[in-house]
Amino acid sequence: MNEITKIAVIGGGAAGLMAAGTATRCGADVTIFEHMEYVGRKIGITGKGRCNLTNACTLQEFMENVPRNPRFLYAALTALGPDNTMQLFEELGVKLKVERARRVFPESDKAATIVNALRKYVADAKILHKKVTSVLPFEGGFKINNDPSLVFDKVILATGGRSYPRTGSDGSGHRIARKLGHTVTPILASLVPMESPSDHCKRMQGLSLKNVSIRIERDGKPLYSDFGEMLFTHFGVSGPMILSASAHLAGEDLTNVTLYIDWKSALDEKTLDERLITVFEKESNRDFVNALGSLLPSAAIESFILASDIPAHKKVREITKEERKRLLNLLKSFPIPLSGFRPIEEAIVTRGGVEVKEISPKTMESKILPGLYLAGEIIDVDAYTGGYNLQIAFSTGYLAGKSAAEY
Ligand SMILES: Cc1cc2nc3c(=O)[nH]c(=O)nc-3n(C[C@H](O)[C@H](O)[C@H](O)COP(=O)(O)OP(=O)(O)OC[C@H]3O[C@@H](n4cnc5c(N)ncnc54)[C@H](O)[C@@H]3O)c2cc1C
Repeated sequence: MNEITKIAVIGGGAAGLMAAGTATRCGADVTIFEHMEYVGRKIGITGKGRCNLTNACTLQEFMENVPRNPRFLYAALTALGPDNTMQLFEELGVKLKVERARRVFPESDKAATIVNALRKYVADAKILHKKVTSVLPFEGGFKINNDPSLVFDKVILATGGRSYPRTGSDGSGHRIARKLGHTVTPILASLVPMESPSDHCKRMQGLSLKNVSIRIERDGKPLYSDFGEMLFTHFGVSGPMILSASAHLAGEDLTNVTLYIDWKSALDEKTLDERLITVFEKESNRDFVNALGSLLPSAAIESFILASDIPAHKKVREITKEERKRLLNLLKSFPIPLSGFRPIEEAIVTRGGVEVKEISPKTMESKILPGLYLAGEIIDVDAYTGGYNLQIAFSTGYLAGKSAAEY
């Protein structure tokens, strides 16, 4: 008679819950170790509390949104892709909707709906609210926290990365993986806001820009460009485009790196200049500061006055061609010097983690220590925003749970 496989899943986040539920469905006896009071704490804050759980895209498009080790994910995404994930949540009673850029959310607009569905999925697993500090190979299996009552056949390490540690992902899993012989690649912040020494950011803090183009350059050499939304903050810049840029630039020294904002990306320079001439003719008797109101959001006016070096109360009719040109240049290419990234605690996702070469992509089993599986953000993979990171956690969690249970 076959014995039931006893599996310890360390971490009750997206990857751990998916792994645990899948393993119980495959007949395993599963215990989830979660050191926070509740499972799924991070899921609860995803997508600004709405949880963008996946992206309804093709496998090819998915890969294009994973800047770090995309090929490692091929088997996991084939085992449980976005379609299967959506179907699984629908089976668990969650109605879903697809929004702009194929982002998938629960119809309730509440991340708690996804957490509750995952709780339902793991109903047959035990949950122990305990911090795991050690995993030791023991009599063909594993002993947790050196406790003889916590002995398992298999272990799935799904402790997440290092970002937002108040949700429980404090990096303790990396230490456990290292002790078990794994390499952990350098840990960096990805999808993280960027800092700037420029006072313009403080001056414009809270201002959110839509439909603008950005370009990031080092000493005139292009590093990144994008079109979309961004935000000024007291420390620098944030918002979707900036987060994506950070995934490209993760780990780079940002000295001599400048962000240029095109505030009028729909207009080429010639058309914009004609527009400026029309506005200046119409507003010729007004002060420069007042004329800017028809060109810019009010929160940006002071910065444009200072950067253009045109006196605020100069009459528009007195503005020289040279000054108009300076304004035009700023509208098309407003420079914001960058100085660094915000700390990993503020990053949406962690770059770096357990080296993918040490994990079998077909099963998520460790190549270093058989019986140990890895899933989710603890692995050195990360993606852009759009539901891809949770899908990676679900796909790798599913594959780890299934492989560990199917002895
Ligand atoms: C603010 C924010 C918004 C986000 N929004 C989105 C989004 O909308 N869409 C998207 O795709 N991705 C989003 N992400 C990224 C996504 O949430 C993560 O990539 C994903 O949750 C990773 O899942 P995980 O299970 O690997 O790790 P986690 O969700 O971090 O789970 C790890 C779990 O392990 C537990 N744990 C850790 N160490 C131990 C230990 N030693 N003992 C016991 N338990 C332990 C932790 O408490 C935690 O519950 C967002 C991230 C943040 C921070």
